[in-house]
Amino acid sequence: MKNNHQYFVSTRGLATKHSFLDALLAGPAPDGGLMMPDAWPQVGMAEIASFALAPYPDAAHAILKRFAGDAFADADLKADVAAAYDSFETTDIAPLTEIGQNLHLLELFHGPTLAFKDIAMQVLGRMFARALAERGGRATVVAATSGDTGSAAIAAFGGLANIDVFVLHPKDRVSEVQRCQMTTSPFANVHTIALEGSFDEAQAIVKALFADSAFAGAVGLTAVNSINFVRIAAQSVYYFTAAAQLGAAPTFVVPTGNFGDVFAGEAAMRMGLPVKRLVVATNENDIIARALNDGVYATGAARRTLSPSMDIQIASNFERALFEASDRDTDWLRDAMAAFVQEGRIELPANIRAALAERYSAYRTDDAETLATMGRVHTETGRLIDPHTAVGVAAARRVLDDAEGPVVVLSTAHPAKFPDAVRRATGQIPPLPPRLKDLLDRPEKMAVLSADKDLVRAFITARVAPP
Ligand SMILES: *Cc1c(COP(=O)(O)O)cnc(C)c1O
Repeated sequence: MKNNHQYFVSTRGLATKHSFLDALLAGPAPDGGLMMPDAWPQVGMAEIASFALAPYPDAAHAILKRFAGDAFADADLKADVAAAYDSFETTDIAPLTEIGQNLHLLELFHGPTLAFKDIAMQVLGRMFARALAERGGRATVVAATSGDTGSAAIAAFGGLANIDVFVLHPKDRVSEVQRCQMTTSPFANVHTIALEGSFDEAQAIVKALFADSAFAGAVGLTAVNSINFVRIAAQSVYYFTAAAQLGAAPTFVVPTGNFGDVFAGEAAMRMGLPVKRLVVATNENDIIARALNDGVYATGAARRTLSPSMDIQIASNFERALFEASDRDTDWLRDAMAAFVQEGRIELPANIRAALAERYSAYRTDDAETLATMGRVHTETGRLIDPHTAVGVAAARRVLDDAEGPVVVLSTAHPAKFPDAVRRATGQIPPLPPRLKDLLDRPEKMAVLSADKDLVRAFITARVAPP
């Protein structure tokens, strides 16, 4: 096995050190925590400035190689990253557009499934295929999705050798476009499950499957949802390119569910990127807004909103922010996460609240304001934005006056992915890009299962080839 300079540790402090390939292929750490780099690699100001004009895949390669070390031959990593972004509709992978004075959208939805998750997932699929080819063995990817992770995973992993993909989505709680992106894959290694329950129940089942070490080992279980650190690393890239293009430290506003995307912003900051603030924008499922504003991280029942990819009441990646905010105090974090499982809440100590407040602010937007924001952007600029982006724009309006410098809203989905909400807000029906025109007419295939871990485990066991 090749040597790695960078290694990975668990947020809960009890797991041994992992190599990059382990962090890539494993799910959560064996102690239940999340993988984190032992130290943050640094990117100097001159190199950051060079990203302003560099092709996006070059910037992505420069960042990712700092985490990958020599896990892959450099030419292979470069080729995989280039191929990942060849699957995008535009050569500007993450273009910026100005929609108002000092207000920019960072368009992250030009990949195959029209949401930002393609940006990391397309890289991840290629890394998985290469790692398995080099190491041997099979992998079983299991992902819970509120809609976009599943379609992105299916687009990235469908048809790959030595990998089966199982995607669990909450039945009837994803948009028709999202559902069809998951159910119309032509590949035999793709298995789409509609779960009779919420996203949080789907995620709990996936976590329980990982905790079942006999099963996990037998099928080679691996995770590609945002608890996979390599996704966070790949997502940190567009923070760099956007800031470099603007030539100033931006305020980034991030429509947030599982806290993966906004944590990628913290990762960029810790690698040396100057950023004014990270603004967490939530819908009515405001666990993170409450944690940051009131100091209590407490779950509630997930509510359905117009921005379903953020209908989440447990934000897994917040654990990574707590790990850093506590100065990597794994003893505290282990107890806190145990208490969260038991009681559904954590009271954040003053030192951790203060550390989080230095970096993050948070605002909640309800459906009425989401619709009003979509309407206003359409009236003022002629642009259609999706409801997740609108939650971000609504939060951005609250910080714009005091932001001093550019405010960048991460535009996380294409409006055509959520046509019903767009039509309600603007009267317009956003057209699907040409390559997806016939999506809703393609034959669908999915299994419907009740929210029961044993049923899901049996379903998977019956379908995977032995590792
Ligand atoms: C996944 C998703 C989000 C939330 O991202 P997190 O990393 O889970 O916080 C926001 N918008 C869209 C469109 C998404 O698909």
